[in-house]
This record gives sequence, structure tokens and C-alpha cells, in this order.
Amino acid sequence: MGVKYSNKINKIRTFALSLVFIGFGIMYVGLLFKETMWLMSIFMILGLLSVTLSTVVYFWIGMLSTKTIKVVCPNCDKPTKLLGRVDACMHCNEPLTLDKDLEGKEFDERYNSKRYQKNTKNQK
Ligand SMILES: [Zn+2]
Repeated sequence: MGVKYSNKINKIRTFALSLVFIGFGIMYVGLLFKETMWLMSIFMILGLLSVTLSTVVYFWIGMLSTKTIKVVCPNCDKPTKLLGRVDACMHCNEPLTLDKDLEGKEFDERYNSKRYQKNTKNQK
């Protein structure tokens, strides 16, 4: 209830996109301070940093995409990419898992953490 899970790749992509907008936003604010050279420079540098960071994040998405597993979502029948042990469908946010042990269990982001995986292993 209430807690909504979304696909990790989508989440990171949204983050990268917002960085671009924030970067341009900061640079735009910098233009308002044309009269004050040092202040404008600071805004320009911060804006450029934000845009640069977004390209880094986009590159990172590219790296992550090679590790994703393509599946067809049982809920909406569309192909989606899964990252990690549990992830949500890119189209309908249906929680999906690749691990048979977790099937039927309540969806939890914790299943992706190393510590949790160790704990479940010890229980066996
Ligand atoms: Zn789906």
C-alpha cells in the first residue's frame, strides 16, 4: 500500500534527465547576474558540472543495461529490463523477481542487498 516501486533503469534515467534540466536552469540563473562576472562564472561552472554529471550517469546507465535481463512482463505482456534480484516492470511497475525463492513474497527492495542475500543463504 502506498509504497510504489519503479524500474531502476527508469529511475536512474529520470535522475540523469533532471540533472540536465537543473544544469541548464543554473546556467540560466547565471545569465541574470551578467553584471557580476564572478557570480555568473560560479553559476556557469555549477551548471556545466551538473550537465557533465548527467552524461556520466547516462554512461553508467549504458553499463548497467548490459547487466540487465530482458523478460516479458506477465502483467502487461511488454518486454522489460530487470536489474538486480527484484525490480519493477518498466511499463506498469509490476514487481518482478528472477528468484524462485522470492516468488509470492512481498516485494522488498532489501532483497537486492548483499547482506540480505547472505542471510537467506544461511537459513538454508
Ligand atoms: Zn508490466
